[in-house]
Amino acid sequence: MPGYELVGREELQQIEDIFNHGAVLFRHGFESKRQGRFKVQEFESAFKSRFNFTNALAVSSGTAALKIGLKSLGIGPGDEVILPCFTFVASAEAVIECGALPIFVDVDESLNICPESATAKIGERTKAIMAVHMLGVAANLAQLRELCSLHNLFLVEDVAWGCGGSYHEEYLGSFGDVAAFSFDFAKTITTGEGGMVVCKDPVIAKKAAAWHDHGHLNIPTLPRWEDRREGTGFNFRMSELQGAVGLAQLVKLDFILEQQRLMCERLGSVLANCSVDLKLRPFPIGSVPTGDGFVFFMPSAELALNLRERLAVHGVATKILPEAMTWHFAGFWEHLRVLSEGAAANVVPSGLERSELLLSRAVCLPTSVIDDAVSAPLQASLDEVFSSL
Ligand SMILES: *Cc1c(COP(=O)(O)O)cnc(C)c1O
Repeated sequence: MPGYELVGREELQQIEDIFNHGAVLFRHGFESKRQGRFKVQEFESAFKSRFNFTNALAVSSGTAALKIGLKSLGIGPGDEVILPCFTFVASAEAVIECGALPIFVDVDESLNICPESATAKIGERTKAIMAVHMLGVAANLAQLRELCSLHNLFLVEDVAWGCGGSYHEEYLGSFGDVAAFSFDFAKTITTGEGGMVVCKDPVIAKKAAAWHDHGHLNIPTLPRWEDRREGTGFNFRMSELQGAVGLAQLVKLDFILEQQRLMCERLGSVLANCSVDLKLRPFPIGSVPTGDGFVFFMPSAELALNLRERLAVHGVATKILPEAMTWHFAGFWEHLRVLSEGAAANVVPSGLERSELLLSRAVCLPTSVIDDAVSAPLQASLDEVFSSL
C-alpha cells in the first residue's frame, strides 16, 4: 500500500509553489498571474518521459480516463467491449457510460483476462478488448495484441493498478490504443483523485484532450472564450492542486516500487516455509509486477476464508481477495442493469463459475512501503490454519 503512505512535505512544497506564484488553480490561461507555474502540464510531461509515452492527458479520475479513452476511439451504442470478470466495477461503468455493452469473460490462473475466453466472445459488435492489469500484474499482452490485430479490434489497457509495471521491457500503458491510469488514494501513486489517458496516435490524443474539456481545442493564440471546439465533451479536467501532488508523487515512484517488490519477496519466503505447498499467482513471462499486493491460492475457498479470519486476529486485513468479490467480480453486479437503464438485459453475466472458484481460493495481502507488518502474522496464521486440519 503505496503512495498515500508517503504523502507529506514534498507534496505540500509543490502546492505552496502555486500559492507563492499567483495561486492559479486552473490548468489553462491566466498567464500573467501564474508566473510560469503549470503543474498539470508539468505532471503530464514528467509522466510521459518517465515511461516513454507519446501522449499523456491528466484527468479527474481513472474512471474518467477510461471513459475518455473509449470515447476517443469512437466506441458507443451498439458496440461491445470484452473485459475480464475480475476487475473494479469502474472498468464496466466506463463502457456503459459510453453507451456500449460490457461483455465479461473468465480470468485464468494469473487472475487476468483469459485470451481463450475472450476469443470465444468476439462477435460482429465487438470493438475492443480491455486488458486490466489486476493488482499490478501484466495481462497476457502478446496474445491479446495478436487477437486484436487478427479481429481488427482496439486494445484498451486499464492500468489503474499497473503504474510502473512492465512487460517485455516496455511499461504497462505502452501497448493499448489507449491506456488509463488511476491516481485515486489507494493506487500506487496518488493525487487524491485523478487519472491519466495515454495513447500513441496524435489524432486520438487530440480527441481525448478536447473531449475532457467540453470540446475545447485550446488554441494557444486565442483567449479561452474565443476558442473553437471539436464536437462535444464534458468536464474531466485535473486541477493544479492535483497536478502539484502528482509531480511530488511521481518522484517517489521508484522507491515505492522497490519497497513493494521487496515486501513481496519476503512474503514469498514465508510461503516457501509453509508445510503445505501453496501455489503463487503466476505472471506472464517477461513481465515485472509492481508488487501492489501479494497473491496466492489456498487449497479451498473455505481455507482461504479461514486464513483471512486468522490474519484479522493478528491485525492484518487482506486486500480485495477473498472478501471483496462484490466490488471486483462481475458475477455479482446486478446493479449494472440500473446503470444501463435496462437497455441491455444481458449486462449481468453468467457462466463465470470457473473464475469465481479461482478467486474465492485466492488470498491477497497488502504491501506497505514503510514497514513489514505482514510477514510475521502470515507465518503465524498459516501455521494455525494448517495445524488445525
Ligand atoms: C481504481 C480503479 C479504476 C478507477 O479509478 P478511479 O481513479 O478510482 O476512478 C479503474 N479500474 C480499476 C481496475 C481500478 O482498480
